[in-house]
Amino acid sequence: MVNERDTQYLLLTPGPLSTTRTVRSAMMQEYSTWDVDYNSIVEFIRVRLVRLAVRDDVNLGAHTSVLMPGSGTFSVESVIGSVVPADGKLLVLNNGAYGARITTIARMLGIDTIELGQAETESTNLDQAEEILAGDTAITHVALVHCETTTGMLNPAEEVGAMVRRHGREFILDAMSSFGGIPMSMESTGAHYLISSANKCIQGVPGFGFVVADRTALESSRGRARSHSLDLHDQWHEMETKGGKWRFTSPTHVVKAFARALDELEAEGGVKARHARYVANQKTMVEGMRALGFRTLIGDEIQSPIITSFHYPEAERFEFQKFYDALKARRFVIYPGKVSNAQCFRIGSIGDVHPEDMTQLVAMVAEVLEELGVTQPAV
Ligand SMILES: *Cc1c(COP(=O)(O)O)cnc(C)c1O
Repeated sequence: MVNERDTQYLLLTPGPLSTTRTVRSAMMQEYSTWDVDYNSIVEFIRVRLVRLAVRDDVNLGAHTSVLMPGSGTFSVESVIGSVVPADGKLLVLNNGAYGARITTIARMLGIDTIELGQAETESTNLDQAEEILAGDTAITHVALVHCETTTGMLNPAEEVGAMVRRHGREFILDAMSSFGGIPMSMESTGAHYLISSANKCIQGVPGFGFVVADRTALESSRGRARSHSLDLHDQWHEMETKGGKWRFTSPTHVVKAFARALDELEAEGGVKARHARYVANQKTMVEGMRALGFRTLIGDEIQSPIITSFHYPEAERFEFQKFYDALKARRFVIYPGKVSNAQCFRIGSIGDVHPEDMTQLVAMVAEVLEELGVTQPAV
């Protein structure tokens, strides 16, 4: 728990997040990127990612995975820029900053892009999405953000995936902040490309992202990339044919920490057990915050266990920076809001964080409110 930690504070943020000491210690070894010792770690990670993402063993061979350096956005950009063909068209289902980021990426790359733009507090409108898909046969790919980290909303990936498949298009799922923390599979989501990164629910440290892909789709994307360094097929081909070698300098320490993080995910009991812990974290935190008068931005029925947005208290005395600093002085680091038209802050429930930490956090929030003279009625 927080008092026993060796880090200066607990990160209640959606990545980087608090990792275990053992994950961080795994970085104390050095490897050459050409060495078989290192490349076999990469290969094992690639296999384990496919196993984590594929539900039925008979489908393992139909899937593959590729690691890409950089933060998660680099992996998103790599997929968008490498799989949509020159004469293809992308539909982005956007209800948050990460959906908007996909549109920005696609447009900057000169990809023909249309967007179903919705309010950040509204779940994906399936009827409207279907109408657009049915009416525009030029659309080859559809992109959706699973957990919109902007608000904490969980979008209906399964329904969208089934629809995209029904219409014979390819589905790109940004599962950055949900993969490893919420049960899902390539089969259940229908994703052709599922994107996540090292520093979210797998609980590694930042430095690379990864893509689990439908093998046939990825193989047929050869030659479509609009960037050399972010060429998804080329990166995959190198790893696939050279026993886990990356094309360019790879983040060796981060990869080693990630392998350890995968061991720890397994030791915890897999995604199901991790999900249960995140749900318990979020529930403990939200119940405590509500008892202190805080209101959540979105309804519980669309709320993920990953991160939660809270409205600022209506009290005039409330200043976020003071609130943040006072909590940080008590060793809890929260996250500013990201929604466009509401004053919010966010608290993450992922990472090496446990319900007892959340109980302690709520006690600290109560202390801080009192110190700052902010009072509000309980909801
Ligand atoms: C974290 C995250 C990303 C990637 O963000 P980076 O800052 O580039 O790591 C993309 N999409 C979602 C939904 C995320 O939560």
